[in-house]
Amino acid sequence: MTRIRIGYGYDVHPFSETRELILGGIRIPYPMGLLGHSDADALLHALTDAILGALALGDIGTHFPDTDPQYKGADSGILLQDAYTMVRARGYRLGNADMTVVCEKPKLKPYINPIRKRIASLLDVGEEDLSVKATTHEKMGFVGREEGIAVHAVVLLMEEG
Ligand code: MG
Repeated sequence: MTRIRIGYGYDVHPFSETRELILGGIRIPYPMGLLGHSDADALLHALTDAILGALALGDIGTHFPDTDPQYKGADSGILLQDAYTMVRARGYRLGNADMTVVCEKPKLKPYINPIRKRIASLLDVGEEDLSVKATTHEKMGFVGREEGIAVHAVVLLMEEG
């Protein structure tokens, strides 16, 4: 019987006018980016946390601490790949992932498929196994006030063979 494991990740980063917006491993034209120690890619962070969580391997902060200068400005694509390498080393692979980005702006529709393609290439998985969705927070709370972006991610990992 194939063993399956579920994982969930959540991440938030605040907007800053001093940063470029990088989300899902791609650059998105917008007057503000996300503030953080790394490139602050909240989507890849949520996905990385979901992948680690599925095998109870801790979280992104455990493996890539924001106190470590080597992760300053880090490409979160590399962190995601490192987390997935840990999963592969334990005999699991991604079944599918479903992600929801929550923000008022920017409108992400034109970027959904480029983001799916980017994550597919980072993990060497099929785009059909990667769902990226976007919703607003109906103008409520910190997301509603356009103070930042929140992302939820759920993954299913399957044992190989
Ligand atoms: Mg983060």
